Amino acid sequence: MLIGSYSPSLVVISLFVAILASYTALDLAGRIATTKGRAVYLWMTGGAVAMGVGVWSMHFIGMLALRLPFALGFDVGITALSLLIAVLSSGFALWLINQPRLLAWQLAFGALVMGAGISSMHYTGMAAMRMTPGIDYDPTLFGASLLIAVVASGAALWIAHNLRRNTPYVRLARGGAAVVMGVAIVGMHYTGMAAARFADESFCGAALTGLSGKGLDNVVLVTSLAVLIIALLTSLLDARLEARTAVLADSLTLANQELTHLALHDMLTGLPNRTLLADRIQQAIQAVKEQGGCFALMFIDLDGFKPVNDAFGHHMGDQLLREVGLRLREDLRGQDTLARIGGDEFVLLVQLSQPDDAMGLAERQVGLINRAFKVAEHELKISASVGIAMFPGNGNNPQELLMNADAAMYHAKGMGKNGYSFFDVSMNTNARKQLQLLQDLRNAVEHEQFRLYYQPKFDAVSGIAVGAEALLRWEHPQQGLLLPAMFIELAEKTGLIIPIGEWVLNEACRQMALWYAQGYEDWRIAVNLSALQFCHAGLVKSVATALERHQLPANSLTLEITETTAMSDADASMTVLQQLSDMGVDLSIDDFGTGYSSLMYLKRLPANELKIDRGFVRDLEHDSDDAAIVSAIVALGQALGLRIVAEGVETDVQQNFLTRLGCNSLQGYLLGHPLPADGFMADIQRAEDAVAPDKSRA
Ligand code: C2E
Ligand code: MG
Ligand code: MG
Repeated sequence: MLIGSYSPSLVVISLFVAILASYTALDLAGRIATTKGRAVYLWMTGGAVAMGVGVWSMHFIGMLALRLPFALGFDVGITALSLLIAVLSSGFALWLINQPRLLAWQLAFGALVMGAGISSMHYTGMAAMRMTPGIDYDPTLFGASLLIAVVASGAALWIAHNLRRNTPYVRLARGGAAVVMGVAIVGMHYTGMAAARFADESFCGAALTGLSGKGLDNVVLVTSLAVLIIALLTSLLDARLEARTAVLADSLTLANQELTHLALHDMLTGLPNRTLLADRIQQAIQAVKEQGGCFALMFIDLDGFKPVNDAFGHHMGDQLLREVGLRLREDLRGQDTLARIGGDEFVLLVQLSQPDDAMGLAERQVGLINRAFKVAEHELKISASVGIAMFPGNGNNPQELLMNADAAMYHAKGMGKNGYSFFDVSMNTNARKQLQLLQDLRNAVEHEQFRLYYQPKFDAVSGIAVGAEALLRWEHPQQGLLLPAMFIELAEKTGLIIPIGEWVLNEACRQMALWYAQGYEDWRIAVNLSALQFCHAGLVKSVATALERHQLPANSLTLEITETTAMSDADASMTVLQQLSDMGVDLSIDDFGTGYSSLMYLKRLPANELKIDRGFVRDLEHDSDDAAIVSAIVALGQALGLRIVAEGVETDVQQNFLTRLGCNSLQGYLLGHPLPADGFMADIQRAEDAVAPDKSRA
């Protein structure tokens, strides 16, 4: 019996190679687990080669570590076969551990196959020495080596399967596991070696023809280390690349989410916008159809937001809208949707257990907005008008529901604002009519459908005409002649009053210039201005242009603004009025007595005329309060040095009373209806002829 000895350095190196091979195998298993597509097979093949070479070279170096008293060699063919077995069983192992689940029986079967693979690699490798006589194996140790191979394989498979996903500390865990696996492989090898007994007269058949010679260990070591390190480095680089790709993909997902958010939300308040709202309504309709129940759509429009915006600037307006958004959300549940769909328009979508709940909620929302807002040290009071459409009942799709809620909101506004209205079919027709009218109004200027009617003003004492008030009429192609009450509010709300007002100003000046040329040089033509025109920056310039175009002295034009308009933004109106007054234009305060005037302010206004509202004139005869008010207004006007005009004079009694009180001029149906220019002139001439038949002008 020959006793061999081992080169300690080669034993240590073989252990190192085993551990490195194990680590590479674990790392590659991780690579395969996180890769998709065809790359999986590439990693599997590369991994099988690297791991196979590693395990095999451990075994080969272990054999080279054995020193026997005769020359050793290895048959090339059989050695190559042992390498092939190592690669194949490694491939099998990598495939197995990357199964989504590894059941106990699969693990046991895998351990058997792999144990058999490693053992057969080992004993095939031993056979490559082609010993004569053959190697005699100790049955116990031989059995132990097989058992170690199977158990070690089982453990390795189990560890690798569990460590294949990237978890925290996965490198440390893999390092520990690699040491255990390396020791097990080495243990199997040296137990197998210990089982081998060489007869005294043994002769190595491969010593002459096979691989042999000094330095073989180094070649194997260097080659296998190179294979393992290349595999490991590739794997590491790829992992890094994958991590970076993952980061990129994450930021892309994030950017996508942000974009979607932007597309579906209002920038100012962060609330859902119209698009998202429509989608939510659609979903709510679907839900009600499938599961029953109901929901309410509440159209919330702020009353008095525009003045805040105009007076304090957009910045404050924006701030206020944000606060309103927050306030409205106070009373909502998570599943309700509050959206902002326009300037000061919010829409609330609420699921209800029963329709009656809508009323309470609407009441609360109106109450919430009615509480003062504190924005940048200012206390702001606004209110809300709410229109409610219910589903089922008030519409079949998001557009219809929204339109009906909108119509109900308009109704709430009409009912005095700061309240709510439930939708009713009659509102729909109203809303539709309004919409149609608006479309027609847009074309009216272009198609020259506006006319000016003129109503005369007379000197109260002498009865001589002193001028006329220009009153707007719209010759609607289908509806006939429309009075301002039918369309002025709409024109103001949509801003169309600006071009319309410009037309009125121009047309009135043109007409007055004609009369002026006919000799009525002391007449004044009165033009009504709406609040919006008054705020418009171009007003002063428009007036100047109109006067100049028609060569009309500024003094021939009176601008009528209502008391409410003049008083609303006192400082701003003062500036505009002063500019107009400096030009020489005559200014009149219309509908006087209906608004809230401050005497202080009235005194500072550069006005020339007060027009007593016809509401007071109408009831003069029957209402002593009104008579007292009219007397007070006349006294006030006289004290401030203003001309007093009474409008709406319909009876002789009124005429006499107003004349006696000291009104300067009178206007009303009794004295003359509003008429087109030619009819107006015919009336005037008839009246003049009646007063002084021999006196004629021009
Ligand atoms: P306003 O400026 O107070 O005009 C007087 C209104 O009283 C006119 O109504 C006139 O027809 C009416 N009226 C005159 N005499 C009598 C009378 O004896 N009895 C009664 N019951 N009414 C009388 P109209 O033409 O329907 O105009 C209504 C309002 O529309 C005007 O009130 C004015 O505020 C506005 N408006 C008229 N034309 C224009 C315009 O060109 N631009 C602007 N912004 N508003 C206009
Ligand atoms: Mg007027
Ligand atoms: Mg008036």
